[in-house]
Amino acid sequence: MISLIVHGGAWDIPDDLVEAHQYGVQQALERGWKILSGGGDAVDAVEQAIHFLEDDPTFDAGRGSFLNAAGEIELDASIMNGTTFRCGAVAAVQQVRHPISLARLVMEKSEHVLLSGKGAVHFGIEHGIEQCTDDELLVGRELERWRTVQSQKNYSTKESFRKKMPSDTVGAVAMDTDGNIVAGTSTGGTPNKYPGRIGDSPLIGCGNYADSGIGGVSCTGWGEAIIKVVLAKTVVDFLERNGGDGVHAGAQAIERLAKKAEGFGGVIVLNNKGIPSVAFNTPRMARAYRTSEMQASVVEV
Ligand code: ASP
Repeated sequence: MISLIVHGGAWDIPDDLVEAHQYGVQQALERGWKILSGGGDAVDAVEQAIHFLEDDPTFDAGRGSFLNAAGEIELDASIMNGTTFRCGAVAAVQQVRHPISLARLVMEKSEHVLLSGKGAVHFGIEHGIEQCTDDELLVGRELERWRTVQSQKNYSTKESFRKKMPSDTVGAVAMDTDGNIVAGTSTGGTPNKYPGRIGDSPLIGCGNYADSGIGGVSCTGWGEAIIKVVLAKTVVDFLERNGGDGVHAGAQAIERLAKKAEGFGGVIVLNNKGIPSVAFNTPRMARAYRTSEMQASVVEV
């Protein structure tokens, strides 16, 4: 069994953006699937699927990311190998085209788990990471949004999430022919975040978790709430307890997110048999998945 599931955020995706979201998650899935079905490993599949989404300006990751309150783009990403338990993450990095690749470098080439800011970028430069300019990450839609938010007094992320704020973080979870489960997440965070703010996405256990014996999870949604309930690890714990029912584990964890932290968001899940599932408490969530037991991929928004 090989299996791959990707997401492109959970929110009230308007009708006119549905097609772009479907296209993005489908293309990302295909890119990762090509690797997995050719016998490649889950780390490469997750990295390449997320690369596509980081390049696609539809999503809040890499190009197309939200601006922070200072008008800068600060990116977070993480990746975890559920077999080796190695993981890598970067937070608040600037001018990096593919933060997921920088997270992978931290996982594979450093003795640390999480690097932030200038230090993380410096580490990437030492290892040949592709840098870019702010302008290459910035899209007009986000400049407009930033200007609008800046002109509003008392802007609150929590209230904005209630009013269906965009949440276009991306993620992927893959299982390869050796049964390795790997999860990755990449984001520009939330609009108008305080400079230096770090969300759930680069925090192992919160926005991302994998244990090949149990399953893997990538999250999206309001990061401050997700952190409080350690959402990704919570899903994996429920999975372990219920014998691998991803649908139920995801739903229970999202219920906890809502009840304990008034949170909004979604999760993609693979259990240890590679069976994909999703759970979310937002009107829509963009996702695509495929397993070797399916004839074709499923794309849903
Ligand atoms: N979870 C991300 C964050 O809070 C945002 C998102 O998923 O859209 O940084």
